[in-house]
Amino acid sequence: MTTDYAKPLPEMTADNSPFWEGCKRHQLLLQKCSGCGHVRYASLTCPRCWSMDHQWVPSSGRGRVYTWIVVHQRYSKAFEEDLPYNVAIVELDEGPRLLTSLVQIENEAIRPDLQVEVAWDDVTDEITLPKFRPVS
Ligand SMILES: [Zn+2]
Repeated sequence: MTTDYAKPLPEMTADNSPFWEGCKRHQLLLQKCSGCGHVRYASLTCPRCWSMDHQWVPSSGRGRVYTWIVVHQRYSKAFEEDLPYNVAIVELDEGPRLLTSLVQIENEAIRPDLQVEVAWDDVTDEITLPKFRPVS
């Protein structure tokens, strides 16, 4: 674990802090609407019924690659040493899509619908990022 992590970190809010606290425990949590049962990723209201009532429920941590890009140009000095790096959207088995990074795979090997599972990256003492690796 590093204490001199120089990349941008997620902003904790009252609404998303249960998600990030779950990540710190290596538990991927999603919101399940108490009104209609729809499962979503960290948002204030349910996109289906607009209810604000929800429970945080554990995700399987598994999903598939929905889409991705490979970044070759330096947009941020903080990521320069990682070039070229991927930015992916993973669709979880429960439905929500997460913006993330794919790890333990060469960028050239990434394919649509690749089956992936969460791989925790403890970047600071407080923040753990959910990244994804191919299911072995
Ligand atoms: Zn709902």
